Amino acid sequence: MKIIYLKSREKKPAVFLDRDGVINKDIPGKYIKSLSDIKLYKTALEGLKKISSCDRFHLIIITNQSAVGRGYITERISRKINDKIVKTLEKEKIKINAVYYCPHSPVDNCDCRKPKPGLIKEALKDYKIDLKKSFLIGDKKTDMELALKTGIKGVFVLTGQAKNQIKKHRKIKADYVLKNLKNADKIICR
Ligand SMILES: [Mg+2]
Ligand SMILES: [Zn+2]
Repeated sequence: MKIIYLKSREKKPAVFLDRDGVINKDIPGKYIKSLSDIKLYKTALEGLKKISSCDRFHLIIITNQSAVGRGYITERISRKINDKIVKTLEKEKIKINAVYYCPHSPVDNCDCRKPKPGLIKEALKDYKIDLKKSFLIGDKKTDMELALKTGIKGVFVLTGQAKNQIKKHRKIKADYVLKNLKNADKIICR
């Protein structure tokens, strides 16, 4: 599923952004169920603003939203939450091109739930993306697996679920590890 905000015919790399735990706070075991659950990381706003202003990337959110498939929230609410996040980012001069989301639950065995590449494939239909020069920023092992599998550089950010993920999986392969997004532009826009 997708929400397109800004179309573009330009060929350029993308910065694929996981949403929960990267842009907004993510508490283990809790789902983002309403607009009041959205708490953005200041550091993410700072970093994304610089990445957006360097103007060399499509900015695309790719997010698993199993809260829909599990019946915790409706698709409509899910879209509203995405809209709110994108509009808030826009106010900070961060231009998001689109949000691609998987609304399924793990038992649906769909093709779009990360680490499966369905969301990236969808984005490739709508935008001309130079994958080799693209980045995928996430706080979970599955995000880094997806990056590896699609030939995108993986940026593991130590916010959100990252600490639990390291405890759980011990080793997570990534091209870059960042404490937060504050200075992500230094590796992305250089
Ligand atoms: Mg996440
Ligand atoms: Zn899916």
